[in-house]
Amino acid sequence: MNDKVCVTGASGFIASHLVKQLLDKGYHVKATVRSDASKYPYLTSLAGADKRLELVKANLLDNGVFDSIVADCDAVLHTASPYIVNVKDPQKDLVDPAVKGTLNVLSSCAKSSSVKRVVLTSSMAAITDEPQDGKIFSEADWNTKSDLKRNPYYYSKTLAERSAWDFVESSKPGFDLVVINPFMVIGPSLSPGLNESNKIFSDMLSGKYPAIMALIWGIVDVRDVAKAHVLAMETAGASGRYLVSNETMKMQDVVAYLNQQGYGNYKLPKVSLASPFGNKIMRLLSYTQPKGSGSYLRSHLGKGMSYDNSKVKNELGIEFISAKQSISDTIPDLIKWKHLKDKAA
Ligand code: NAP
Repeated sequence: MNDKVCVTGASGFIASHLVKQLLDKGYHVKATVRSDASKYPYLTSLAGADKRLELVKANLLDNGVFDSIVADCDAVLHTASPYIVNVKDPQKDLVDPAVKGTLNVLSSCAKSSSVKRVVLTSSMAAITDEPQDGKIFSEADWNTKSDLKRNPYYYSKTLAERSAWDFVESSKPGFDLVVINPFMVIGPSLSPGLNESNKIFSDMLSGKYPAIMALIWGIVDVRDVAKAHVLAMETAGASGRYLVSNETMKMQDVVAYLNQQGYGNYKLPKVSLASPFGNKIMRLLSYTQPKGSGSYLRSHLGKGMSYDNSKVKNELGIEFISAKQSISDTIPDLIKWKHLKDKAA
């Protein structure tokens, strides 16, 4: 068993669960963050943290900063990457930290004689830029459509994952690379920050969605995504990419479920534009949205989404938390962290 594991971007929504699960399993964790340790009580107060958690400062863009950090680690779980849909400068704000950061981390791992496996957090965004009716996506697919204007976050994830595979191919380092490609990650947060994917739910419940749209989301629980990373690190035979997502849900079904769960007194969208006519209206309205959101809407509205998640189930033995259970656990957590008003209070 690997005993010292580095997790980059440990402050993040997914990574903080990863740190928790690693500590729970008895690992020593070197967790990289960007600020002082005092800013991360949700990490330093985790069970086992007093003896087995080391917080180290590292910015993805500081060349060589990971050399000394990973030098004595057995495995590195590289999750740090900006996850922001709307940015001013997609090259500087998304692509540079995603790609240069990944190569920076991998170069340091290649210099270490102890790192045997790197698990990279990629995304479904590296598999496809958009849903496609009738197509079943799998690990064999690659996003070839995104660019700096069209779904730039997707572009950054695609380029980062490609550069990681290219690095391994050309440098033949002493570690092997395994990649996790999650879809929309939701669930309870260990940290007070609001993640972009959980924000969809706080926005939906606070009136920021004008209408129910023909959108379909692949939903996966943050605890399962963290578990997939740990299993990808521990399973000797794990290899390649793992598409990590449970069920798809249409926006209209999510809204119906939230109403049924007693959140009807929030500002959930009521008008349905989930129709060919509605898609036309929403496509026009998408141009009034910030660039990243507008581009997402135009590429996703009205398209069906299917994927094959059997590889992660068969090879890593993941049994997914249901999408409805994840939603049921997410909303009280948004209220707990005050991202949503408590209307029952
Ligand atoms: P998150 O909470 O926003 O975490 C992003 C992490 O990256 C934070 O720890 C952040 O540090 C760090 N980071 C960003 N820029 C950095 C830089 N220049 N130097 C060092 N650290 C930097 O988002 P998340 O959802 O947990 O995302 C984690 C990973 O999962 C990302 O690679 C993301 O693309 C991927 N992913 C997320 C989803 C999803 O639905 N949430 C789906 C698929 C893939 P600070 O706290 O200091 O900003």
